[in-house]
Amino acid sequence: MSGNKFSRFKDRLEGIRANLLGDLKKTRQSNQEEEFTEMLADFSDDAARSFSRQMILNLGEQERETLKLVEEALYKIKNGDYGVCARCTKSIPEARLDIVPFALHCVTCMDQVEKEKQRDHLIDDDRGSAIPAPNE
Ligand SMILES: [Zn+2]
Repeated sequence: MSGNKFSRFKDRLEGIRANLLGDLKKTRQSNQEEEFTEMLADFSDDAARSFSRQMILNLGEQERETLKLVEEALYKIKNGDYGVCARCTKSIPEARLDIVPFALHCVTCMDQVEKEKQRDHLIDDDRGSAIPAPNE
């Protein structure tokens, strides 16, 4: 893969990251607004309140997970091993990267990883160190 193609994906990944960071900020604002919501507790249904709160928490978790993948993909672009499956080391088809630029696995391995994730749901990931420090 040429450097030009890398920069095309880099632009997209950085755009996704900017959107995610904007969304994370929004999520935090929502949590602050929750105090305001609690002030209005007398007017709102308890169950409905906890449901929307759970939705906010879930959304945040999903965004953080995606952000982690985006950071890892950008790190790979920097190191020149972007577009290579992290599991079987085969090239990830460019058509797949066009759809999911932060894909770290080919489709076959992605299925395996997802299955393992579900199985090891309670075991937290141990590859957090693969993500570079922001001040690098
Ligand atoms: Zn693979």
